[in-house]
Amino acid sequence: MFESLGNKLQDILDRVGRESKLTEAQVKTAMREIRMALLEADVNFGVAKEFVARVSEKAVGQEVMGSLNAGQTVVKLVHDELVETLGGQAAQPTLTNEGNLWFMVGLQGAGKTTSTGKLAAFYKGKGRRVLLVAADTQRPAARDQLEVLAKQVGVPVLKVADGETPQETRRRLDEHLRADFRDLVIVDTAGRLQIDEALMDQLSDLQTELKPTETLLVVDAMTGQEALNVAQTFDARVKLSGLVITKMDGDARGGASLSARSVTGKPIYFAGTSEKLAGLEPFYPDRVAGRILGMGDVMGLIERAQQADLKAMEVKKPGDFDLEDLLTQLRQIRKMGPLGDLMKLIPGMSRALPEGFTVDEKQIQRIDAMISSMTAKERHNPKIIDGRRRKRIAAGSGVTVQDINKLLKMHEQMKEMMKMLQKFSGPGAGRGMKL
Ligand code: GDP
Ligand code: MG
Repeated sequence: MFESLGNKLQDILDRVGRESKLTEAQVKTAMREIRMALLEADVNFGVAKEFVARVSEKAVGQEVMGSLNAGQTVVKLVHDELVETLGGQAAQPTLTNEGNLWFMVGLQGAGKTTSTGKLAAFYKGKGRRVLLVAADTQRPAARDQLEVLAKQVGVPVLKVADGETPQETRRRLDEHLRADFRDLVIVDTAGRLQIDEALMDQLSDLQTELKPTETLLVVDAMTGQEALNVAQTFDARVKLSGLVITKMDGDARGGASLSARSVTGKPIYFAGTSEKLAGLEPFYPDRVAGRILGMGDVMGLIERAQQADLKAMEVKKPGDFDLEDLLTQLRQIRKMGPLGDLMKLIPGMSRALPEGFTVDEKQIQRIDAMISSMTAKERHNPKIIDGRRRKRIAAGSGVTVQDINKLLKMHEQMKEMMKMLQKFSGPGAGRGMKL
């Protein structure tokens, strides 16, 4: 996964130059790729353009971050800005002790009715007394669909009658609430295949009468480019207060959420993750940012690499690289998590490693045991480890003499490789871990 963006960028940026700060040329080059990634994730063209301009301004002149290379630094900056644009932290709709009334609006098929049922289940689980209102008089079966969901959740439902005026609905609702107190009313409204003026008017009239405390636009993650237009129009007609993104369990990378959020500035409260009632999660901006960039959990890895004391892993003079250093490095790496993934964080490593490469955790443990069985003198100067010492170390760490031979040979090769790397790249090149 990671090779996708960070390393792809690094390949490109290597050609532009290596500096300790991101140059304008590097940022410009990198942002071409970032814009492509955003468009591939179905972010609206204008939104992508504006976003790239904003992050470019911040990136030029930025210090290349500690253990990261320039490509990874750009990805981190872009990712952080994406998280910020998507709202930073997960947010929740406003809820007071009583009188909460939420409107669910959106295009037909976006997932309004399903999300209404999911919200009922979610908030009933939190101890709320929920009432659902089936106000979609457009499709004959819509009210029944909500009734089925309400039964599953175990909450009452009030069905709006055909031809009923908003005033009548208001009166029936009040009556219902007087007889049976509810602190959260969620209204499922009529769907539209496209923005339709007559239906918008109807929705707006009902909104004026019921005065919802939240008006939530339900956006299908698969709508792609259209999401911006839909969000903009609904916001203009029925002033939105928040967003719900559905079908995040599908292939969509989530660009629609960035478009809808950018154009309305409204928080995204929930993500729909299945057709089932339990398929509702808080919207986590960091996860979606990673998904938009097509990076999976890479940011977690970058963070872990930053946290680990990578300074301890940098060996000043390759000739001094002894077994003690090797042991320190191995232990550092193990602390950071899945080895195969981490190896790929090492600049250039993902290209050198065969596809699907993983490091055997057990093997690392064995090496640890072997080096631990050596004296300080032996670790510092492996040349003195003769046949007799090898036998002793093997016995002490529960391996064969052959294993010890292999380890010493590996260490020798690593040392040679490091010398070569330094000769070709000079100090300062290939920032980050030097293994
Ligand atoms: P409405 O017209 O806006 O009320 O949309 P519905 O609630 O009837 O949903 C339309 C279709 O999308 C139905 O088949 C739902 O099961 C499906 N759906 C809704 N939300 C999700 C979701 O988060 N994930 C998946 N996979 N399907 C969903
Ligand atoms: Mg519906």
